[in-house]
Amino acid sequence: MTEFQTQDILDCDFHMVTQHDVLKWAKTILARPSCHYITTVNVAILMMMRSDHQLRDFIKQSALTVADGQPIIWLSKLLGRPLPERIAGVDLCQRLANSAAQDGKSIYLLGATDTALAKAEQKLLLDNPSLVIAGRSNGYFEASEAETRADLIKESEADILFVAMGVPRQEYFIAENLSRCGVKLCIALGGSFDVISGMTKRAPKWMQNCGLEWLFRLGQEPQRLAKRYAITNAQFLTLSVKALFKK
Ligand code: UDP
Repeated sequence: MTEFQTQDILDCDFHMVTQHDVLKWAKTILARPSCHYITTVNVAILMMMRSDHQLRDFIKQSALTVADGQPIIWLSKLLGRPLPERIAGVDLCQRLANSAAQDGKSIYLLGATDTALAKAEQKLLLDNPSLVIAGRSNGYFEASEAETRADLIKESEADILFVAMGVPRQEYFIAENLSRCGVKLCIALGGSFDVISGMTKRAPKWMQNCGLEWLFRLGQEPQRLAKRYAITNAQFLTLSVKALFKK
């Protein structure tokens, strides 16, 4: 689907791209009439897609699949199929907004609460005064309202759609409604609006570099995340060791 090569890491085909490549590719995509989407896959998603076939198919069909987790980069190196760098969804979101502002492309923000969304919009506009935000709506709606949201996005005539409703809600929404939204590029961004708004703190750089971002998030929301991380991290470790032995 793109000119980039892929590497299979634990049954997911990651594109061998840097953030710079993605931004450059996005510019060419936005000059065309077709519609594409990017997925950012972290360890939790990589494990989730093994049992969630809808999620797996969605990621398989994305124009670009990037690795949003240092452990995935490490594993790719140990397996002898190195991915160039980690690309965090929240960084990509901010860089794409910056690039859109420069190129006169508009964006639509879908997801998070109204408060987080308004603050994220303010921050994006503060960083990029010429950015056109064609519209925004929160991510709390019934499945029966999804088509109406998609129609709102289409009416806004936005070029790029940022969807940040958590995994796998956002992926299901995109899979089922993207063709109705009329945008040229879409990206699923998890909890990025909460981070951009400042309502959720991001782990310090050293923790990100050590692959410990999950530990920082765990400290912020232990009750909700403890079980999830215990399962996905253990599964990732087990599968990584098996893959290394197989190699
Ligand atoms: N979110 C949303 N709609 C929902 C549930 C969550 O828009 O129905 C938003 C939530 O406000 C947050 C983001 O999705 O900004 C990520 O949510 P969560 O932390 O639950 O995602 P996870 O950590 O489970 O991926």
